[in-house]
Amino acid sequence: MEAKRCRRVVLVSCPFQGHINPLLQLGTILYSKGFSITIVHTQLNSPKASKHPEFDFQAIPEGLSKQDIATGNLVDIILALNERCKIPFQDCLLDMMLKQDSDDEITCVIYDDLMYFSEEVANNLNIPSIILRTSSAASLLSRLAILQLKEEGYIPFPDAMSQDPVPALRTLRFKDLPICEFGAPENFFQLLAHVCDTKTSSAVIWNTMDCLEEPLLIEQQRRQCSIPIFAIGPMHKFAPACSGSLLNEDSSCIDWLDKQVPNSVIYISLGSLASTDEKELAEMAWGLANSNQPFLWVIRPGSIMGSDWIELLPQGFMESVGERGCIVKWAPQREVLAHPSVGGFWTHCGWNSALETISEGVPMICKPYFADQMVTARFVSYVWRIGLQLENQLDRSEIERAVRMVMVDKEGEEIRQRAEELKEKVETCFKKGGSSNNSLNKLVEFMLS
Ligand code: UDP
Repeated sequence: MEAKRCRRVVLVSCPFQGHINPLLQLGTILYSKGFSITIVHTQLNSPKASKHPEFDFQAIPEGLSKQDIATGNLVDIILALNERCKIPFQDCLLDMMLKQDSDDEITCVIYDDLMYFSEEVANNLNIPSIILRTSSAASLLSRLAILQLKEEGYIPFPDAMSQDPVPALRTLRFKDLPICEFGAPENFFQLLAHVCDTKTSSAVIWNTMDCLEEPLLIEQQRRQCSIPIFAIGPMHKFAPACSGSLLNEDSSCIDWLDKQVPNSVIYISLGSLASTDEKELAEMAWGLANSNQPFLWVIRPGSIMGSDWIELLPQGFMESVGERGCIVKWAPQREVLAHPSVGGFWTHCGWNSALETISEGVPMICKPYFADQMVTARFVSYVWRIGLQLENQLDRSEIERAVRMVMVDKEGEEIRQRAEELKEKVETCFKKGGSSNNSLNKLVEFMLS
């Protein structure tokens, strides 16, 4: 019989795929350490409870639709979530507190940093709260840099400055800053200020690790706060069986990968939110076809503007690639990246995708679209040098060259080598005695204290 669990942790999730995954991974990790887990989530994009019978799930209404997420401005959506979820979350916590046994008390609330309303609610109810940062330390520093540049009157910056290094964070150029160009600027700055602020939270959990970002984590702590930080990434490695996919994963692509030569396949995915248009699609398609490498391409339904799925692929493309290409709507990405046939990943550089790729030693082609993707692309290509970035308008011959360089050409040998070396460092971080493993043990002690 299972030993009685005595402390409950409430995790507040944000309704985007790239946020749900790390939150469920953290829940799985804390469950394995003996905590009871309640996941509080919005009705929109609710996680699949049936895949996690070990958790309790509590839905709070937020009145948004899938259409709002697909077509709306993300900044306004997140602001709306924070306004609309506060009271329902408070009611939900109060209800849990009324019903709880003395041995099932809520130890703390851990909230995704975009769901910052949770901190105020927890604080009002005298429950400690911990922030979960689902992006990199570099992203947070770039957000702080934006706020500082705004104070100093540098934003909006002129085009002529786009290649200049950002003074506070010299690795990044102005063009790499995750500035939102849609909607009202004051809403964007308001959101940024909320997300960066640690408020009355007791600690910060990071899905990153020392071997990647130690100096940036130290800088963040120096600049921001004296509360403890716990860098316990890559969390998917501590919770390998945990899946949070909102879409059905098409495993037929694994059978297709099984038939390919080791390290020969380029995997392409733009994640759960980014989209492209017909013109870019044509360049991507012909670039891939002309590279002569086999490819596995995730084309998410709705991710090509103006079409439901792959209707806008150029005429003659499918016939020209034949069995050399496999297209799916959604893949079991971690399994794909760990597959021996995969030798490169063309990615939009979402933070989860980057961590999953780095953990498998796969070199990257980066084509970021918005937000922290630009920061990650810069670190991948310029700091860790385990990939290259497509900086210009997509062009089929540049794509063909990039694919061949990352996958086969001698020129890409050092990139492949560094990706392999970084994988080994990451393994050391999460194994027993490694920095992330130690941090996780300290986090558990902290939560029990
Ligand atoms: N993902 C997946 N199958 C796919 C594409 C993506 O399971 O076909 C997962 C991927 O493994 C990652 C998440 O979806 O964990 C996407 O998060 P990320 O931060 O990379 O990007 P976002 O979707 O937030 O832009």
